[in-house]
Amino acid sequence: MARKKMILDLDTGVDDALAIAYALATPDADLIGIAASYGNTLVDTAAENSLKLLELLGATDVPVYRGFSHSSTTDDFETMDISMDIHGKNGIGNVELAAAARPVESTPAADFMIEAAHTYQDNLIIVPTGPLTNLAAAMQKDPEIVDLIGNITLMGGALTVPGNVTPYTEANINQDPEAADYVYKHAKHLVMVGLDVTMQTLLTKKETQEWRDLGTEKGRVFADIFDYYIEAYDRLDIDKRGAALHDPLAVGVAVDPKLVTLLPINMMVTHEDGRTIGDPERALDPVKTDFAAVEVDTADYLDRFMNYTNQILG
Ligand code: CA
Repeated sequence: MARKKMILDLDTGVDDALAIAYALATPDADLIGIAASYGNTLVDTAAENSLKLLELLGATDVPVYRGFSHSSTTDDFETMDISMDIHGKNGIGNVELAAAARPVESTPAADFMIEAAHTYQDNLIIVPTGPLTNLAAAMQKDPEIVDLIGNITLMGGALTVPGNVTPYTEANINQDPEAADYVYKHAKHLVMVGLDVTMQTLLTKKETQEWRDLGTEKGRVFADIFDYYIEAYDRLDIDKRGAALHDPLAVGVAVDPKLVTLLPINMMVTHEDGRTIGDPERALDPVKTDFAAVEVDTADYLDRFMNYTNQILG
């Protein structure tokens, strides 16, 4: 079978930064492009952050595409204060990186996804770790790709645990519930890596010290970026034990679903409050197209995460 090709759709973002590192390091897929989304930051900041991080990691052959600047139901977007508290004003823990030498591609992100779906079909994995606006727009513009894309593994939602925006709602889904609902209802094979599992994969300063000890510039930068996030988790009382590896867990599961226990369940997203829940309309359908990760092998994942990041940051 041909090698898997991966597209990340990121609102870069501290944990998005680690999703890039993990995707470049994993031997199980080629990262063929990054879509940029609004979310943790404005879309242009997200694109710029991705370009800078790719450059830092020596991956200047991975193109970055600009996505939508706001949700499918709004006309504009402003970064929420809480996002800046958690990710820093620039999205990457207020760590200043050199300007990227190359620009974003001229093709819009949704069009890039459509092209890639036709080219790679079943071998294509799309990993959105921000709002689902870009992917829903691509699926709506060219409905053929719904059956072509092999695997969508997203970071978002919460099924068995509370949300992080409301008692039911997770932040990525909350940005554009309508787009998310479209993706959950139409995807051929969707894996939801939600708060159910991502809040069980926490990183501490013990691990970021390992990156510092590598003695490289990229090791120091990633440690500085993630330490900001660990301190925000502590300061905002999100979790005092460490900070969640939300987005890089989705990348890990995308290439190796055995890291988690998957519950087959056809899902929907409520438009009014962004709740990710079973879809009563499709409950009797014997074919399940959505799968919710409900348990994770934390030790195995963290071990792999540190191996990959030490490799690429070393
Ligand atoms: Ca993200």
